[in-house]
Amino acid sequence: MKKSIYVFIMVVLVATGCMAAGGPSVFAVAKVGKVIVIDPGHGGIDGGTQSAQGDYLEKNLNLEVSRKLKQALEDKGFTVYLTREEDTDVTQHAPNSAVKSRHRRDLMGRVEFAKQHQANLVISIHTNTGTKTNIGPLVICQPESYESVTAAEIVQHQFNSMTGIGQHVIKGKRLYILTHSTIPVILVEVGFLSNPRDAYQLHTPQYQQKLIEAIVSGVNEYFVTKVS
Ligand SMILES: [Zn+2]
Repeated sequence: MKKSIYVFIMVVLVATGCMAAGGPSVFAVAKVGKVIVIDPGHGGIDGGTQSAQGDYLEKNLNLEVSRKLKQALEDKGFTVYLTREEDTDVTQHAPNSAVKSRHRRDLMGRVEFAKQHQANLVISIHTNTGTKTNIGPLVICQPESYESVTAAEIVQHQFNSMTGIGQHVIKGKRLYILTHSTIPVILVEVGFLSNPRDAYQLHTPQYQQKLIEAIVSGVNEYFVTKVS
């Protein structure tokens, strides 16, 4: 092959992204323009659940994990927004300020925020409570949404690989954000504050990092293989 033709072909391959090296990968293409809204549960006067000793409040842990998750997803190329950046509720985004219940306006605000930001996926971050034997992260989905169920199953699989516990996605829990959002939502319960081991681990940067890596791997896989 003449050198000039060879150079021409190489330029075309690189310019169109067909070369493995240097061109955009399938992974990058699938994520371009994907918007994720992370919703740190509770906030302000609503502390959520708490540890047995009352020293850890769910709202603070949700925000801490959400902030780190935002950074990790941005590092992967996603556009990410948080429904709250501080220890506040989300009532200011409620479309109807005449609704009397603050709690309801807070939940409405979260759904509206995701709509306004045209999210492709909402990840609502919560921390669970239960008996002392309940343990580990769980994902709750919208059973009628293919996207929600798919994303939830992928993320739960990542959690199960991480913990060695074979937990199943929870379907049919009638939580406001799940029943009112037309955008696919997964609600991630990162662990049980009622379980002393979970409560301890959830506050270590190492364990938080593992949780975040599992969510990021799952979300990445979801966008690349399922809905791209
Ligand atoms: Zn909660």
